[in-house]
Amino acid sequence: MEKSKVVLLTCKDYEEESVNKAIEDGINLLGGIELLFKREEKILLKPNLLAKASPEKAVTTHPAVFKAVGKLLKEHGYDNLYYGDSPGNPIGGVERVAAGCGIKKPAEELNIIPADFNKGTKVEFKEGITEQSFIISNGILECDGIINICKMKTHQLERITGAAKNMFGAVYGLNKGAFHAKFTDADSFARMIADLNNFIKPRLHIMDGVIAMEGNGPQSGTPVEMGLILMSKDPIALDTVFCNLINLKPELVPTNRFGYEYGVGTMKNDDIEIDTVQGCLTMEDAVRKYGNEKYNVYRGTDRKTQIKLLQPIQPLLQKKPYIIKDKCVKCGICVDSCPVDKKAITLESYPQYNYKLCIRCYCCQEMCPQKAIDVKAPFLARIMDRNWKL
Ligand code: SF4
Ligand code: SF4
Repeated sequence: MEKSKVVLLTCKDYEEESVNKAIEDGINLLGGIELLFKREEKILLKPNLLAKASPEKAVTTHPAVFKAVGKLLKEHGYDNLYYGDSPGNPIGGVERVAAGCGIKKPAEELNIIPADFNKGTKVEFKEGITEQSFIISNGILECDGIINICKMKTHQLERITGAAKNMFGAVYGLNKGAFHAKFTDADSFARMIADLNNFIKPRLHIMDGVIAMEGNGPQSGTPVEMGLILMSKDPIALDTVFCNLINLKPELVPTNRFGYEYGVGTMKNDDIEIDTVQGCLTMEDAVRKYGNEKYNVYRGTDRKTQIKLLQPIQPLLQKKPYIIKDKCVKCGICVDSCPVDKKAITLESYPQYNYKLCIRCYCCQEMCPQKAIDVKAPFLARIMDRNWKL
């Protein structure tokens, strides 16, 4: 069986020259852009545009990486280029968020046109194992090929948001909330993400990890220097390399597990080849040279599997969101983003949780613009992690 190639590129900063070189080297190591796309095809660049945030906050794909990919395509004669994503808060449209993230400017310079993410179409996917129907933004459906330009970040529900999870932005607008309400835990949500990846099948995945995000991601975490860009045709292999580099067991990430099970890609080290400009590396060598074992990511046990046995103490074991009052400006965005019908969070003098209704989707935490929501494993769960490797 042919191995999945993951290209690992060092890139010390977001200077145009450094990023252009890394992107060019990476595409060459993958065999050249002509192997992936035909010149006459309509190509969509799909950055992470979670929310309007300046590039140094590491919430969204850095404009320098987006620009380098667009520039390379232009230089190779690709003129039919589009971009877009479905932000967490779609009000004002993708262009408002793209302007705030610094993506709109290079897109205009390179004549990369905003794709239609303001309308969606229901599509059937009979091959779906968990989900057979999606409402997808028209901009995704109208293109021939996709380059998924994701960000190296942590995520409260899935531990990381890398290549596979970034495709959730293909789901049109507020339908994303409906999926959170339907797939209420990390495993079922990851199964849906695996189906979605099999439906969309981006041809290339590029991960911006020059400055990554650790801790309370995907919006409220802390920027951390990793100095890396990863590229692959296989999103699960790419995310697996990311996990290894940050000392997180790949199988703890549900999008890896179900992506592998559903045939999206591989999470087996033996089936992954890591290429660099200097030659191939083993996973161990890549980790030794480029890894960050102290990267702040949740490495605790997922207690869901033990819940039946430990039903009476379940609330004492589950992670939960909570408000950091001195950061909260009472804007109510967290309440609006809660997909639970009766709202598991309400705005009183401060936002208040009803943990009995809360499905732990962490949409509130994801969308809070003030870093005023954190997620913590309760004391008992932390003690168990430290003392019993269940
Ligand atoms: S979104 Fe954040 S800042 Fe706004 S009310 Fe909720 S917790 Fe407070
Ligand atoms: S309160 Fe937050 S974590 Fe709980 S269901 Fe609502 S959005 Fe999800």
